[in-house]
This record gives sequence, structure tokens and C-alpha cells, in this order.
Amino acid sequence: MNENEIKTWLLEVVHPAKGSQNIVELGMVDSISVNDSKIIVTLAFPKRRDPLTEYLVGATRATIIRNAPKGTEVEVKAIVKEEAPKKKSGLDLGLEEVNNVRHIIGIASGKGGVGKSTVAVNLAVALARLGYKVGLADADVYGPSVPLMTGTENEVPAAEESEEGKEIILPIEKYGVKWMSIGYFAEPGQALIWRGPMACNALKQMILQVRWGVLDFLLIDMPPGTGDIHISLVNDIPMEGALIVTTPQDVALSDVEKGVNMFRNEHINRKIFGLVENMAWFTPEELPDNKYFIFGKDGGKKMAEKYGIPLLGQIPIVQSIREGGDSGEPAALSTRPDGLAFIDLARTLAETAG
Ligand code: ADP
Repeated sequence: MNENEIKTWLLEVVHPAKGSQNIVELGMVDSISVNDSKIIVTLAFPKRRDPLTEYLVGATRATIIRNAPKGTEVEVKAIVKEEAPKKKSGLDLGLEEVNNVRHIIGIASGKGGVGKSTVAVNLAVALARLGYKVGLADADVYGPSVPLMTGTENEVPAAEESEEGKEIILPIEKYGVKWMSIGYFAEPGQALIWRGPMACNALKQMILQVRWGVLDFLLIDMPPGTGDIHISLVNDIPMEGALIVTTPQDVALSDVEKGVNMFRNEHINRKIFGLVENMAWFTPEELPDNKYFIFGKDGGKKMAEKYGIPLLGQIPIVQSIREGGDSGEPAALSTRPDGLAFIDLARTLAETAG
């Protein structure tokens, strides 16, 4: 009598609520151990207080006793084990949680490091300051920065079960904004190595399985660049359009073209609300009226004209914006000129979006 033999006996134990499937094919047999004249089988149940636990433990025990040599001691244990990540085809993401969101807008950039997340976080705070109901989903798998930028890195989102039995994540609320980030589910400093379909599914869950409630704006901080993950995100999440963040250097501007082309691609075909030129000029704290165009002047404006999209806003490079990002107190909370630049951007976006 060995594990495999015992497993074949267990094929007889049929789950009464799952058609004619048995506990082996349902993956409920967690472990089988045999020593001398004792058999221990552990059954895994996907939820606590499964009403069929006792029945299945009893049926399993009876089946083993029936098949095993007389005198064998039999123990059947039940444990609760979270369901294995759902099979790809079974990823059941409805749109119920974003049904009451007026505008879902992706914040994109052709390349990393242009301040996309900084703009996303500050724009969210600025929209909230203007009285809009706002949420932000940080879908930047390569470097989720929302927890740090909002000082919520120690928060762990709670979850609750929806009426249909689906797990729904509750967003973290701070500064009048509902935040969700893939970073809340990773250890600090741990590299997120999700790629391909797994990353994509995790991202979609993080947007579609969140209790957003009624919102005017749900901003999605997209991963930098343009690729399959972007196309899949835009297609599966009812994104109305995008806002593209750039800096004025030529290298960054040349990537804007890729971003524009992606959203204009016939398979995506979404509105581009406009371009945001970040780090448009440098202003020293002590000389707030001085503007130094260290990366060149009017690059964003020319690029916007070239592609026929509005230049929605220009954000200066200011030390306090970087400090705000690092300290978890976004610059948009302040009434300094840099804070007001985000308020202006928020106002223009709200007018454009309608
Ligand atoms: P991305 O999301 O495009 O990779 P981040 O938003 O993470 O870029 O910004 C990169 C770095 O630049 C951060 O340290 C951030 O604080 C800083 N930064 C972004 N925009 C500004 C700005 N306007 N002024 C000063 N620092 C900025």
C-alpha cells in the first residue's frame, strides 16, 4: 500500500456539489502519508466553514477503510487552503467595481523616469482638492511608487467578499483619494518579477477587483513604455483615454511618438486627453520667479502641436516636488507655485474630460 494506490481509492470520493468530479481531480487531496499501519490524508478546502467538510472527511475515511487491509488506522484531516491562482481562462473579472466611475484615464509615458508617477499622484491629489472623487491604481509593475509617494507603504489593504462570493480589495484612503498599488502586496524592496500574462492578470485584478465606489476619475499609473501589457490593459479595462507625460529633452520627446501611436493604433484607438510636460523648467526655491529651461524650451508645446493634442500642463522641476515624493506628502497638497501647477493641470483635465 503506497500513496499512489491510496490516491486511486480516493477517485471514488465524489464531491456532491461539483457534478461527478472526485476529490483528486478537484485538487483537494493535499497530502497522503503512509507509515506502518497508519494512513493520514489531508484534504484542502478553499474556504473556512465549507458546509461539506464533514461529509467529505467522512466519505474519504470510509473509502480508505473499505480498501485498506483490516486493522489499518485511518486519519483524515481538513485544512483551509486558499485557492490556487485561478486558471487563466477562469479569471473572472467583471466590470462591476468600475461601473460607477465616470472617467478612467491612463497616465502613460514613452519611457521611465520622466515623472509619470509623480504627475499621477499629484494630479489625483489636485483633483481631490478641487472636489472630485478620485481613485488611483498604480499599475507600474516595474516600480510601484504610490505607497512611498503617499506615505502609505505600511498599509495593507483589507479584503471582503462580494455578494457573488468574489474577493474584493478595499483601497487605502488618504488625502481624499482612494489608492491601490501592486506595491501593497510586495515586501518593501522586493523586486516584482512578474512578466507577461501573470503580471497582466495581477494588474487587472488590482484595478477591477477593488471597491472603488462612485468616482469622477480613476487614474491608472501605467507601466512605462509601450508594449503588449499596455494593449492588454487598455483593452480589458474600460479606459476612456490617456494622458502622456514627457520631459522636454529630445530623447524623451521622441518616445512620446511611440505613446501617441500606441493609443492611436487601430486595435486600441483611445482618446489622448493631452500631453503633460514635466520638468519644463527649473525654479530654485529661493528665486521662485526665475525659470531656467535646462532641458530646452517649448519642447512639449511643439510636440503637442505636431501630434494635434493639447498641452494640458507644464510642471516645473522643483526640489519640493522630489521631496514631497520621498516624504509621502505630495506637492499638490501645498499652495506653493509647484502645488498650484498641479491644481491648474487638474482643472484643465477636468474641463477637457467634461
Ligand atoms: P516615472 O514614474 O516616470 O518613472 P517618477 O515619478 O518616479 O518617474 O520620478 C522620478 C524621480 O524624479 C523621482 O525621484 C521624483 O521625485 C522626481 N521628479 C519627478 N518630477 C519632478 C519634478 N517636477 N521636480 C522635481 N523632481 C521630480
